[in-house]
Amino acid sequence: MDKIAYSSSLPVKASYDVLVAGAGPAGICAAVAAARSGASVALVERYGVVGGNLTAGFVGPILGSVGKGTMRDELVRLLGVPDNDWIGETGKAHDVEKAKLVLSEFVADAGVDVYLQCSVFDVLRSESVVSGLVVASNEAPFVLLGKVVVDATGDAVVSTLAGATVFKGRDDGLMQPVTLEFTVDGVDESRGLICIGDVDDVQLFGKRFLDWCREQADAGKIPPPLAAVRLHPTVHPGERQVNTTQLGGVDITRVEQIFPADLQLRRQMVLLETFLRENVPGYEKIRITASGTTTGVRESRRVLGDYLIDADELAAGCRFPDVIVHKALFIVDIHNPTGAGQAEDHIQYCQPYDLPYRCFLPKGIEGLLVTGRCISGTHRAHASYRVMSICMAMGEATGVAAALAASRGCTPRALPVSDLQSALSARGISLFD
Ligand SMILES: Cc1cc2nc3c(=O)[nH]c(=O)nc-3n(C[C@H](O)[C@H](O)[C@H](O)COP(=O)(O)OP(=O)(O)OC[C@H]3O[C@@H](n4cnc5c(N)ncnc54)[C@H](O)[C@@H]3O)c2cc1C
Repeated sequence: MDKIAYSSSLPVKASYDVLVAGAGPAGICAAVAAARSGASVALVERYGVVGGNLTAGFVGPILGSVGKGTMRDELVRLLGVPDNDWIGETGKAHDVEKAKLVLSEFVADAGVDVYLQCSVFDVLRSESVVSGLVVASNEAPFVLLGKVVVDATGDAVVSTLAGATVFKGRDDGLMQPVTLEFTVDGVDESRGLICIGDVDDVQLFGKRFLDWCREQADAGKIPPPLAAVRLHPTVHPGERQVNTTQLGGVDITRVEQIFPADLQLRRQMVLLETFLRENVPGYEKIRITASGTTTGVRESRRVLGDYLIDADELAAGCRFPDVIVHKALFIVDIHNPTGAGQAEDHIQYCQPYDLPYRCFLPKGIEGLLVTGRCISGTHRAHASYRVMSICMAMGEATGVAAALAASRGCTPRALPVSDLQSALSARGISLFD
């Protein structure tokens, strides 16, 4: 690619204690936790709404669990889904429209300055120390200065710009498939089944529903990658959140791949609506009522931190002296990058595990914390902690860390983890057995 040199003087719009890039489940909790800890906070989000996958991506239900007392508990209450269990057996997808307002009120009430429709496109750094974000907006590009920056972009945008080492996918480079989630209404609840995914043995026509779906795919009724038809209940009877469209081989950090992927997924949505109407009892009268305004990204970049956690540690329920998220729990849920269903023959279950502070410190970079799905872990480990309950708890912990470091004038790395743990415990968060 040709390159040109380009320089410009940009206005400094404001200075904050803490800058959070990305307003997904992790970024929202980071921003609110930092603000509630007394920091001045800016939250920068490229979309026109806060929530990330939870709103713009139409992802639900909120899965996974963490130890008691985190913001996850507060948020599921606010979103009207307090009964959600870790694996989705009893949980329901939240009302996405309601969530857009609930989450906006959540950040506004905490006094966070929210910059919507503003995309981070560069960082200010001297050597390896990050001190601000360069932001694109339709007003004009501008700079926000911050004592501590939190990368909650999911795609590790800030960490990458800051020069951190990042990884993508498994050994062959393939990442989990992208999916466009959508909602259908009009399901006859007396007959319409629910299927929460590959752990579900719900039956149809005398066989496991997912086996029947695979036969339908083999018979050409739906494209083979769509054979795992996941139909989650929502808080509204007669509705299903459909997590089934799927496209492998997509790297969402490559701009030329985004539109073609979105187009294919929208075509798949219509195929699925017809398939369900014509073949699945109780779904005869469904209609698509809404879909994500963005393709849902399960996996993109992961940052190398001071510690790289792996799935064996999650499976064993490892404890760490520098724990900041306690008793996180979800399966190693690897959607197949090259086909339908799961990538592995057997689902890896985990014991409730801890996430150590070192996974949130990008190696070799100062002034920066990473949080949410792009923290430092392997491809298989990421497949577990990426769910929203765990990302919320991660965000909260990093927000408190950022506020503490800013108030002391130290870097996040120099913050004694015991002080961070005390601050988290003082908020009622359980960190130790
Ligand atoms: C199809 C699909 C189904 C899933 N199913 C479930 C499920 O059922 N239950 C569950 O709990 N989890 C599920 N997940 C996982 C979960 O949704 C995500 O892993 C989780 O939302 C990650 O939270 P996050 O805050 O780290 O990132 P995200 O939710 O991705 O949020 C990142 C935010 O950063 C913003 N951002 C990115 N770049 C920039 C930039 N340059 N400038 C400013 N802002 C930026 C984005 O716009 C976004 O708002 C699913 C994911 C997908 C894609």
